[in-house]
Amino acid sequence: MPGRTKYLLDESDMPTQWYNIAPDLPEPPPPPLHPGTGEPAGPDDLAPLFPQELIAQEVSDQSYVDIPGAVLDVYRLWRPSPLFRARRLEKALGTPARIYYKYEGVSPVGSHKPNTAVPQAYYNAAEGITRLTTETGAGQWGSALAFACATYGLDCEVWQVRASYDQKPYRKLMMETYGATLHPSPSELTEAGRAVLAEHPDSTGSLGIAISEAVEMAAADQGARYALGSVLNHVLMHQTVIGEEALRQFELAEDTPDVLIGCTGGGSNFGGLAFPFLREKLAGRSGVDIRAVEPAACPTLTRGRYAYDFGDTAGLTPLLKMHTLGHEFIPDPIHAGGLRYHGMAPLLSHIYELGLIGAQAIGQQECFAAGVQFARTEGVIPAPEPTHALAASVQEALRCKETGESKAILTALCGHAHLDLPAYGAYLSGAMTDNELSESDLERSLAGLPAGG
Ligand SMILES: *Cc1c(COP(=O)(O)O)cnc(C)c1O
Repeated sequence: MPGRTKYLLDESDMPTQWYNIAPDLPEPPPPPLHPGTGEPAGPDDLAPLFPQELIAQEVSDQSYVDIPGAVLDVYRLWRPSPLFRARRLEKALGTPARIYYKYEGVSPVGSHKPNTAVPQAYYNAAEGITRLTTETGAGQWGSALAFACATYGLDCEVWQVRASYDQKPYRKLMMETYGATLHPSPSELTEAGRAVLAEHPDSTGSLGIAISEAVEMAAADQGARYALGSVLNHVLMHQTVIGEEALRQFELAEDTPDVLIGCTGGGSNFGGLAFPFLREKLAGRSGVDIRAVEPAACPTLTRGRYAYDFGDTAGLTPLLKMHTLGHEFIPDPIHAGGLRYHGMAPLLSHIYELGLIGAQAIGQQECFAAGVQFARTEGVIPAPEPTHALAASVQEALRCKETGESKAILTALCGHAHLDLPAYGAYLSGAMTDNELSESDLERSLAGLPAGG
């Protein structure tokens, strides 16, 4: 059909299984290690933090995992999400490229995060857990988990990075509306928080510190577990509903993507869209070129080291083999709060090492320029994080204009910016800077990697 703008699936076409890419990879990813023994961390090491079913999913060798009916029921509140053809952006760019975006901002909290928050809350509730702890940076993950906990009747306690706790009162109110309890991080409630405050009383916090606090609190309470919004295998797997739907929507469009571009903080929205397409590529059914985009201020894949490192600042988590800037890294307070994590999903880091995906870093001014252009053509104001993917998509579309190639570009519009508008204010007023990570800051934080890392 000429001129078609959205490709919509019926609720009955929603995927009923998540896709686990690990068994399809040419080599298995390196296991997490116990920080004390240096041996692979076993299920017992993770049991204080996660319910059994999620631990099983974390190490699963099954290609597909059934989505529980009670999770599908909640997914149906916003899934299947639409795939759009960005015809107006294409026209504004004057490009022969066909640009598609899979839009996850239709979820109740405005991002892809509920795709994993809902099953995580479900499995915890099913195993008798009554309370979940977590961290949040920009507030998107905290909102998603607060919503998911409300759905299954769990208490939800969130450590929010101090800088965004102060700057984003509406995120806080959103989480409280869903019934969550909020603490600014670093807080006086945990040893990890008190240690940071003793040294830096004015600390604005980081995701790594907030993770330490939430992990410490969960480990101290039998009835509590911890929930992570990105990075881990099971989180990336839950997000594959995005890519499975997009594959079906491309069938409706009678098209196939030549290039797939997503932003990477911990890697979950990118993995969620990309892994089903990578499965097709590994099976020889697709030639799609897959690229991750990260901020120049927190360039984990492109400039980090591939090494064993902690997932948090205090060193409470197992050691993960991943691209990392060092667990003590505190990124500049750029506006894409969801992309300010020192590490990258071990699964995605491994896939990058295998040469199956590419990566690039872009400064935030170019990203917001693309975000504004997108808003003025397509209408949705993109969250600061996916403006990184949009900027790379615009670069690719402009290359197509030069070469005359008509590539199909697929990008993940993983959230909207309704609670992040001050970031656009900074861009529009000219107050925004790029804050590219300097070589000396990178060297300093890599020096903090654990021995043998
Ligand atoms: C959390 C978040 C991110 C970063 O996390 P990933 O795991 O890399 O997806 C990116 N975009 C939005 C909208 C987010 O909420």
